[in-house]
Amino acid sequence: MANAVENIIKTIYENYLPMEGAGKVADYIPPLAKVSPHKYAISVCTVEGEKFNIGDYTEKFSIQSISKVLTFSLLAPLVGEELWQSVGKEPSGSPFNSLVQLEYEKGIPRNPFINAGALVITDKLLEKVPNLNERLLLYVRELAGSADIDFNKEVADSEYATGERNKALAHLMKSFGNFNGKVSHVFRTYCNHCSIEMNTAQLAQSFLFLANGGINPLNGERVVSTRDTKRINALMLTCGLYDESGDFAYKVGMPGKSGVGGGIVAVIPGRLSIAVWSPELNRYGNSTRGIATLADFTTELGISVF
Ligand code: GLU
Repeated sequence: MANAVENIIKTIYENYLPMEGAGKVADYIPPLAKVSPHKYAISVCTVEGEKFNIGDYTEKFSIQSISKVLTFSLLAPLVGEELWQSVGKEPSGSPFNSLVQLEYEKGIPRNPFINAGALVITDKLLEKVPNLNERLLLYVRELAGSADIDFNKEVADSEYATGERNKALAHLMKSFGNFNGKVSHVFRTYCNHCSIEMNTAQLAQSFLFLANGGINPLNGERVVSTRDTKRINALMLTCGLYDESGDFAYKVGMPGKSGVGGGIVAVIPGRLSIAVWSPELNRYGNSTRGIATLADFTTELGISVF
């Protein structure tokens, strides 16, 4: 598979490098608007330990909502089935920050990978994990095999200052009794988590445990159970790209998660993880070139989850 992967990502990269103006860089969190729309990187890690990279793969970017999978994975072993009384496991079919559905559904977010769902996960993590911010950074660094991963304070501060809609989601959930902590504290912690910066090589490595039955291949340690690995991958497949999840599953055929920083990470269980970064977003908030890259990748490789 090694030669095939190397050739395929090179061909795709050269093919899509000229693709510009295919979307808009996120600007509702002001520092994200400063990122060049031309950035483009692809990284692949296989469960056998091979790594392939092309483009701007040493440059870090804001992983934003991709952090929602990492925080959910950190919480999963600490909670039981009662979690699902507070958050659902169905695709939302609505924008990632929608208030309307949350009102109709009495403050229970559709799934952990939309903003409201991730805010509930952060609320629960704060109750269970002392020094959560430090713990999450250590967790991610261990998964990525790199100590060089941090929050970006400017991005976190900016989102905290401008994130009225996310605060509204949290207050709405609190009004329904589905939120325990102080909104300002939970939201600040959520902003820190979204502000984590990684390059595609680190990002692909940090998701490899989800292609490896829940075990971090770097140290052989179990991160999540095989049952939770199955569940997290299923949630990514059905809910990982907001209201574009169905289209992504149809075109790409891999469980994946996007972020408004322009990153998308995806896995083929038993085989590999792949991270793409290209900041121009489509109207759903997902990287346009990232989706095209991943669709061609599975088509050319002839392997997906289907
Ligand atoms: N921090 C962003 C927000 O809460 C994440 C959105 C995303 O990456 O999709 O709006």
